[in-house]
Amino acid sequence: MNASVLDLAHLPTDLFIDGRWDAPSFDTRIEVIDPSTQQVIATVANATEADAQRAVDAAAKAAPAWAATPPRVRSEILRRCFELLVRDSEQLAVLISRENGKSLGDARGEVAYAAEFFRWFAEEAVRIEGDLSRAPSGQARTLVQYEPIGIALLVTPWNFPAAMATRKIAPALAAGCTCILKPATDTPLTALLIARILAEAGVPDGVVNVLTTRSAGKLCAQMLDDPRVRKLSFTGSTEVGRVLLRKAADSVVNCSMELGGNAPFLVFDDADIDVAIEGAMLAKMRNGGEACTAANRFYVQRGIHAEFSQRLAARMAALRVGDGADPQTQCGPLINAGAVEKVASLVRDALDKGARLLAGGDAPQRVGYFYNPTVLVDVPANADLLREEIFGPVAPIVVFDHEDEAIEAANATEYGLMAYVFTRDLARGMRISERLESGMIGLNRGIVSDPAAPFGGVKQSGLGREGAHHGMLEFLEAKYISVNW
Ligand code: NAP
Repeated sequence: MNASVLDLAHLPTDLFIDGRWDAPSFDTRIEVIDPSTQQVIATVANATEADAQRAVDAAAKAAPAWAATPPRVRSEILRRCFELLVRDSEQLAVLISRENGKSLGDARGEVAYAAEFFRWFAEEAVRIEGDLSRAPSGQARTLVQYEPIGIALLVTPWNFPAAMATRKIAPALAAGCTCILKPATDTPLTALLIARILAEAGVPDGVVNVLTTRSAGKLCAQMLDDPRVRKLSFTGSTEVGRVLLRKAADSVVNCSMELGGNAPFLVFDDADIDVAIEGAMLAKMRNGGEACTAANRFYVQRGIHAEFSQRLAARMAALRVGDGADPQTQCGPLINAGAVEKVASLVRDALDKGARLLAGGDAPQRVGYFYNPTVLVDVPANADLLREEIFGPVAPIVVFDHEDEAIEAANATEYGLMAYVFTRDLARGMRISERLESGMIGLNRGIVSDPAAPFGGVKQSGLGREGAHHGMLEFLEAKYISVNW
């Protein structure tokens, strides 16, 4: 791919409100930095409270007509969004690797995944079902129909700048809701380009609005205080999720929360080691480790531990680290300097406590926010990186002997988003899957994300599900009508 697909000078960088592009009058602009080069590649508008007010006004104005738009028409617009995202996929992929740093291969994968939410929810938009039953007393009929929940505030992180936005926008629109998207400040350009594509696809003015801002806390609080906003769908850290849940409580706003993870990756002696290594590379290195589903801790049974560790270390050490937009790159930079410092300090802590390095353990000497793919063994139970999201290319390996020991260690976390299990014994695989406290399990698979499947976590990894039929229900409210005829 050549970078000429992307014309940075003609990307949208202003706010998108009511189908128009504009910037606040006292616009201080936000710099967008390419983490591979540390160069500023664009500046975007910095929304104020007045802009947030205008965005809610626009979403409110558009809401009745959009809710009344026949599902078939909504479906066809969503299908067109899918087609145009596919048409522009290379441009989006290059943009994602420029502003986020992920390798072009990962960025292409993300765009395909992101577009797929529109195809899936185009199909779901015409399948909003209800129920009719006879009340147990026999005195009435119970009619339940599903209605759009109302204006939705969508807040997304920087690690999947396209897919986290479309995973919310597509079901919101399919359900008949209008929305305001607040993308992450590190990666606002992808969201703005998607907004332009959706407008071209025929999404009416005011149905999708995008606010980029350096004042996320203030503006989100203001919008959640507005009684017209009835839904908050957030993807990001558990820490910010807790803040938003508290705020949403003031107006009893319905919340969907996709939060942090600390995925265990369990490998049993009877696993197919080739499959387990491929799975480990995918689960650990998709997005350079900056994924909520990333394998954060590897628990490997004693009989297979040495071979697994050595082979994983060899694969990790052989990865080509480089500029995200370079097609040869297999591992791009982290998002910013703070992320590199966090990863480096987690590795230092593990080494100080007795872990041993098999690969990496340092940052390459070059411009950009890089950290080398790293494998650690003999990681002690008190190492911080077994408890915290690493969000980088670091694989800590712990040896275990018995199944119960592995399950206990895997569940010893406040998170419960994703877990991986590798064994040839399917009965064991199913037994363990049922005992793991996790919203999603990859059984002999290193990747599970699929728009047709319910994505989400238990415990402090979140509330609700995205994708599948479940993703629509997050934007619908049941109305019960008791009928006497
Ligand atoms: P983050 O710091 O929680 O930020 C997420 C979003 O929230 C950003 O748009 C951010 O805006 C905004 N935000 C920050 N403080 C806020 C506040 N007080 N009120 C309202 N909005 C606020 O997370 P991140 O660092 O971008 O993303 C990484 C995290 O996301 C990881 O924990 C990862 O596991 C999680 N994640 C979860 C899933 C999932 O599906 N479960 C998927 C992807 C990522 P600014 O950018 O302006 O700060």
